[in-house]
Formats: sequence, structure tokens, C-alpha cells
Amino acid sequence: MYNNYLLGAINKKTNRYENIMSVEKTNEYKCIGCDSDLILRKGEKKFQNFIHKQKNQCEYFKNPSEQILINDAFSHLKELLDTNIVTIFSKCSCCKFKFETKLPKFDFTTKNSNSVECLCGTETVCAFVVNDVNNYTNVPVHKINIQELIVRITIGFSSKKVELVSGINFKCEQCKKY
Ligand SMILES: [Zn+2]
Ligand SMILES: [Zn+2]
Repeated sequence: MYNNYLLGAINKKTNRYENIMSVEKTNEYKCIGCDSDLILRKGEKKFQNFIHKQKNQCEYFKNPSEQILINDAFSHLKELLDTNIVTIFSKCSCCKFKFETKLPKFDFTTKNSNSVECLCGTETVCAFVVNDVNNYTNVPVHKINIQELIVRITIGFSSKKVELVSGINFKCEQCKKY
């Protein structure tokens, strides 16, 4: 199912989320679940993981709930959007080919429990939701499969570019002409 190795933590200096794939041994991190300090056990990039500095009852990494996984993936998606290293593809509803979907210009992003929004001023210009949770009308919404997001993050690690396929079918530029 999910890969728990990929859960991230909060960088204590920047107060921002960092995915396990991009954490550095020289930084200090705290647990999203219990707010306490973490130690990064570094092995191969793929196998590094966090443990709590002080043993406690927190099960954040050991036994994460579905909501923790969604929240973590969204925290990461927000960072990817903020640093502009995510490319969104959609499948054309006509020719079925994948094509790159340009995101609208946005100033900043916000994360909610079941979505990430891109905002321009006070206006939401696009949103990312999980699977079938969609509370948005009149805004382009990308449905993101969380499992796929996690897989893509792993694949995209070396290239620093993450590709995601939006669950919404649009028509590509070629098909729009006809
Ligand atoms: Zn914890
Ligand atoms: Zn097409």
C-alpha cells in the first residue's frame, strides 16, 4: 500500500514542510504529529527515516492514518507548487494522449485538510483535491491520486521535477481545433 518511509517533517528553522526525500542531516526537524524533536537516521536516500529524539507514544511514522498520509502528500504538493517543480498532465478526453496542463498564475498556495488551493490575491484560481473529494465550483480542479503522488515524488526525486496526472479530462490543443 503506502510507503511510510516517505512521510516528511517540519524544518525547525524555516518552519516549512520537507519531504523525507529532500531532508538534510544538518537541519533540525520536528514531528508533525507530536511537535517533538526528531533524529534523521540516514542510510541510502531511499531508506533514511525519522525517529523521535525522546521516545513517546506518537505513532506518526509507525502507523500513519489515511488522513496523515493525505495531509503529508498535500504538504509536499504545496511545497512543490511553491517552488514550481511540479508539472501537471491531463489526459485528452478526445485523443486520449497526455498533455501538459498549464496552471493559472498564482501568488501563493494554501493547504486545507482535503485540498490545496492556488490563490491570486484573494481569489482561488485552481485547486487540487484527492480522488473524489470536490467542494469546488467554478474553479479548475485537479483530482490527484495520493498513491500516485507518492510514487511520482519518488520517481521525480533525481530529476527534481514531479509529474502528476490530473484526474480531470480536458481536450488537448490539437483536439480543441476540431
Ligand atoms: Zn511524533
Ligand atoms: Zn487530444
